[in-house]
Amino acid sequence: MRLVLLGPPGAGKGTQAERLAEDLGVPHISTGDLFRAHVEAGSELGREAQQFMDQGQLVPDRVVNRMVAERLGAQDTAPGFLLDGYPRTLAQGEVLEAELAGRGAPLQAVLRLVVPEEELVRRILARAEQEGRADDTEDVLRKRLAVYHEETEPLEAFYRQRGLLLDVDGIGSVDEITARARERLREVAEA
Ligand code: AMP
Repeated sequence: MRLVLLGPPGAGKGTQAERLAEDLGVPHISTGDLFRAHVEAGSELGREAQQFMDQGQLVPDRVVNRMVAERLGAQDTAPGFLLDGYPRTLAQGEVLEAELAGRGAPLQAVLRLVVPEEELVRRILARAEQEGRADDTEDVLRKRLAVYHEETEPLEAFYRQRGLLLDVDGIGSVDEITARARERLREVAEA
């Protein structure tokens, strides 16, 4: 299965992606995690990305696209992949589409986690206390939500037009949401 998980910051993409990827036997590819690993390792890519991440801004498309194309070239993606946090702009969506078309292996579904804004704010501020992520402060959070609306939301129509978009209600317990997502994926597998 070749999937994208779409949703605003705080929607629970990371948690759900990990579970679903394990179910499906495909790697969970989170661009946020890849960037955080680069920052931790002090690589040049990490230094370039960090200035954007700290402000809740998107890392430039060319940097992200290159990193993802490289990651998708690894052997472990033969059975598929679950992308989490990518694409985040229409331009990234177009590059991904071309990249996968070139491999003859297009996306099969885009799961969108739907969560109301006030719930997102509540969750991210709770995560800030637990994990201490540098970009989980209220100012940066507001910025990240604004960036989501402006840059990432247009991808919903992009994927809807292609008949790939599947909505998953992202309110409830982690288990309930996973069960709903599994149900949607079963529909895709059976179609
Ligand atoms: P995340 O963990 O997915 O919330 O990502 C954390 C930060 O990494 C984002 O706020 C961006 O600065 C950067 N980032 C992650 N994925 C992307 C992407 N696809 N495009 C641009 N920036 C990204």
